[in-house]
Amino acid sequence: MASLFASNTPPETEAATDRRIGVLLPLPLSGAYDYLVPDGMDIAAGDFVEVPLGSRSILGVVWGEAKDDVPRAKLKQIEARLEIAPLPEISRRFIDWVANYCLSAPGAVLKMAMSVSDAFKPERSLKAYAVGDPSLGQMTASRQRVLEALADIPSMLPSDLAKRAGVTAGVLTKMAELGQLRVVAQPLAKPFGQPDPDLPGAQLSPAQRAAADELIQAHAGVTLLDGVTGSGKTEVYFEAIAACLKRGKQALILLPEIALTTQWLERFMERFGAAPGQWHSELTGLERRLTWRAVLRGDAKVIVGARSALFLPFRDLGLIIVDEEHEQAFKQEDGVVYQARDMAVVRGHLAQIPVILASATPSLETMHNVEMGRYRFLHLPDRHGPAQLPEVRLVDLRREPPPRQSWLSPPLREAIRATLERKEQALLFLNRRGYAPLTLCRACGHRLQCPNCSAWLVEHRYLGRLQCHHCGFEAPPPAKCPACGAEGSMAACGPGVERVAEEAAALFPEASRLILTSDTASGPAKTAELLRMIAQREVDLVIGTQIIAKGHHFPNLTLVGVVDADLGLSGGDLRAAERTFQLLHQVAGRAGRADLAGLVLIQTYDPSRPVMQALKAGDRDRFYALEAEERRVAGMPPFGRLAAVIISGSDPDEVDRFGQHLARTAPHQDGIHVLGPAPAPLALLRGRHRRRFLVKVRRDVPVQPVLRHWLGGVKTRGDLALEIDIDPYSFM
Ligand code: ADP
Ligand code: ZN
Repeated sequence: MASLFASNTPPETEAATDRRIGVLLPLPLSGAYDYLVPDGMDIAAGDFVEVPLGSRSILGVVWGEAKDDVPRAKLKQIEARLEIAPLPEISRRFIDWVANYCLSAPGAVLKMAMSVSDAFKPERSLKAYAVGDPSLGQMTASRQRVLEALADIPSMLPSDLAKRAGVTAGVLTKMAELGQLRVVAQPLAKPFGQPDPDLPGAQLSPAQRAAADELIQAHAGVTLLDGVTGSGKTEVYFEAIAACLKRGKQALILLPEIALTTQWLERFMERFGAAPGQWHSELTGLERRLTWRAVLRGDAKVIVGARSALFLPFRDLGLIIVDEEHEQAFKQEDGVVYQARDMAVVRGHLAQIPVILASATPSLETMHNVEMGRYRFLHLPDRHGPAQLPEVRLVDLRREPPPRQSWLSPPLREAIRATLERKEQALLFLNRRGYAPLTLCRACGHRLQCPNCSAWLVEHRYLGRLQCHHCGFEAPPPAKCPACGAEGSMAACGPGVERVAEEAAALFPEASRLILTSDTASGPAKTAELLRMIAQREVDLVIGTQIIAKGHHFPNLTLVGVVDADLGLSGGDLRAAERTFQLLHQVAGRAGRADLAGLVLIQTYDPSRPVMQALKAGDRDRFYALEAEERRVAGMPPFGRLAAVIISGSDPDEVDRFGQHLARTAPHQDGIHVLGPAPAPLALLRGRHRRRFLVKVRRDVPVQPVLRHWLGGVKTRGDLALEIDIDPYSFM
């Protein structure tokens, strides 16, 4: 390992100077630790260094001045400095900012920025084979095939060569031993290309051109790019990326779900002639390492990724785009709890660079910031080309209910029939995986529940399993009721996509069907394949969850049926109506994207609700105004601030005692309300009992100091845990 370090590592015996420096370690510790700088070692802030911690060595980053809080004799010495570019100053400031805002350990945030476990290994090359001297041994048929395989290629990786020649690896090894093959170094292929900003983009419409011209100016600050689905937001922000590349800077595009980006990548490559760097959980270790290093060096010019890409060590970032900025997937819920959209705005502000938020249904928070004049606003009012927004109709399920034990109402059935008859595609949307959300005993009423969570078990009939969607618990469906023993009494209650598919199959047996959920679209490749099948009209009927809602272009899809529009509205979530609007609007946007007119039927038990009326009338702004007014009156975000404190443990009495203790010490001051502790809606999760506090703070009161004062000194005993969620999006 020593070879990658600078040679100025001092011998053990050399006396250290008294120079101290703070080193932040990628661990959830309170802050940077002081270390001694060896004589002659050239150290500056941002340098990656190896330091001793306990009995091991660990990589950290030189963070700044020492704290001088530890006696000289107890300090240890930096062992080595790595020969790679330092972590840029803005990255370091960003890490501190996020840690401070989210009340997490700076080292835990640094860990996200260093997340590549072997990022620091030297960039090696791979072993490949080239033709050596064939006369140096016998010539067999398989050896001949190997030489032929290398006839038109100078060198190949062993696995590729073996495959091409149809021989085993042993044949190659033997040939190399004899000298018939030579071992050569093949540099690693970069998992990204060099996008060319000078390639021509789309011919923009006047409205698109005007928006693009604004973005090309690259003013620091935030711009909301608001445009209906299909209005060309992507084409427009591609122009901003091109301008950023021409200035020689890096661009970052955050997408909510990386599994769904195949179409996006294709369009990017068409526009810029090369693949961008990608950053998400599906990368191999090697891809991560190469990409991370290239971002740090500034070689990777464009990165598209999930929220964690925000913490990459960009050498010279010039633009951040958050596409579908309203998506909840930007909120990270475990570990360091942060909202990537909001932190992208912070990152942009620190670097004084432009941030573009794009959406057809912006978050209320973002709209509020536009109204307050904090964000610029660009609008694309129309779909591109001849495509029109679909007509939206509400189906009142009280007046036109589906037959018993079925879920598709007469008007929806008729619309599907007409669509299929025209040889067009229909989508049935239900945001619920599996066959049925609940199984109960008709004899005694017993409901099948997860043993580890306060949640019902969901029946997945194709798998023949009952599943908990929170902890992954699985069981076969019981033959008799576990409570009363009645045989054959267990009944499925309510629909999931599988059950809707079953009904559709019975009604339209000729139509080919495809179910698209996270169960069937397992992984990016599978997802891409299913989406391709839909786009190329290989299926007539699609039944899907929210995974289908996002940004896809299906030219033959003309009918969208929303099976249960009321599903997301129950429960006490402050954003329930907003989210329902966003989701259903996005789903509706799948209909009629090309030259065929689209129709959307929304089944609801309460068509009078403002959110349903807004969907029908396409009147987003009026709905947002109503929502905003409700939030303002209630002092809820974006007009007030929230923080959640969640305590949990395996013993419910311990958790309650801990909760009561925290309640006694909770802050009482003007502008702050602490509600709770109350059992969380998921009062039991993965075997842990959970209680919640909700801290409601007036907008002008900074919540972090209050929480720090209240919880900073709290010690948790046993397996009790305390989590803080600033600006919570989940209330479960
Ligand atoms: P949005 O991001 O707003 O949903 P897109 O950028 O995905 O919209 O555009 C929707 C469709 O219209 C895409 O297939 C895109 O290629 C096409 N499109 C948009 N603007 C143009 C344009 N100016 N010229 C050609 N095609 C366009
Ligand atoms: Zn469970």
